[in-house]
Amino acid sequence: MNQRHRVTRLAAALAMTLTCAAPIAVVAPSPAQAAVPRVAASYQSLMYRSLTADATMAKYRAALSAELATLKTRTAGVAQATKANDTAQTRLITVTTAHAGVHDRLKSAERALSDAKNALARVSKQRPRSKAAIARAKRAVTAATSTRDARRARLHEAAATLRAAKKDVGTAGAALTLASSARATAASAVERTQRRIAGAGTAAGFAAQATVLSRDVVAEVRPKFTIKDTTTVYGTTVHRSVAYAFKRMVDDARADGIALAGGGFRTKERQIQLRTINGCPDVWTAPASSCRVPTAIPGRSLHEIGLAVDVTSGGRTLTRKSKAFAWMAAHADEYGFVNLPSEAWHWSITGG
Ligand SMILES: [Zn+2]
Repeated sequence: MNQRHRVTRLAAALAMTLTCAAPIAVVAPSPAQAAVPRVAASYQSLMYRSLTADATMAKYRAALSAELATLKTRTAGVAQATKANDTAQTRLITVTTAHAGVHDRLKSAERALSDAKNALARVSKQRPRSKAAIARAKRAVTAATSTRDARRARLHEAAATLRAAKKDVGTAGAALTLASSARATAASAVERTQRRIAGAGTAAGFAAQATVLSRDVVAEVRPKFTIKDTTTVYGTTVHRSVAYAFKRMVDDARADGIALAGGGFRTKERQIQLRTINGCPDVWTAPASSCRVPTAIPGRSLHEIGLAVDVTSGGRTLTRKSKAFAWMAAHADEYGFVNLPSEAWHWSITGG
């Protein structure tokens, strides 16, 4: 697959992802699609996953890259919040120590005031009275009162500073908790995407699983088939279980410059007509190879259940020499289509 082809395919798959509610829409049929039976639904789902595997992986990689960037930011946020928290804690210790010192100094000023008052009381009772001693003791009381008042004011300031420091510690702690939780969320997003990447299947792996089911799909679909099980893709009517893959094949071929179209579903009545038109010896028993143009016995053709397409390109039936055949030979298996070797134009999910 060349690079341009790959890019086109990715774009197509991404567009599909955007326009569909979810890939699951293909697996869980709406009532109109309820006719797609179980094995066919599995086949359809596997082909869808195969054809969107690259786009899914691209989506995962893009998500992972964004999530890693977020994780880096959140980790830096935690480092910053840790630093701010440490600073707030250190400051709280300093402020608490300072507050205790201011408190002690107030207590000592209160004791000094009490001592000065006692000294004044003592000298006031002394006889004969000493006016000079009383005046000195009064001045000492005044000075001690002023010191006590100044230290009381300092303690109020220190208490306010302490309250602010405690509040800062609370704020910084909450910010750190928040930052840590945001980082944990970012880390789990990364892990989830990494698990998805590790568990995502490959396009080839899903296609191989689908191939294993293809014969069971035919066996399951044929007995209950009705026209409601089909849908039309660019004018070609096919079984719903192969519609997405067929559309993607036509789109991708067109991106490579190859026009694909073809005849898919045909009724049993038409198959009976073709047996005559194509010169088969009889309608019901002669082998397909005995007809002028190989034509399956009615009831056995995969066209009758929409699981085969006679491919044309530019209005011409495919031949082994056509460019469209070369493209199909190189790519059709990616879409679950296998060639019937005896008919270059006939492609089906089993090659039958
Ligand atoms: Zn055919």
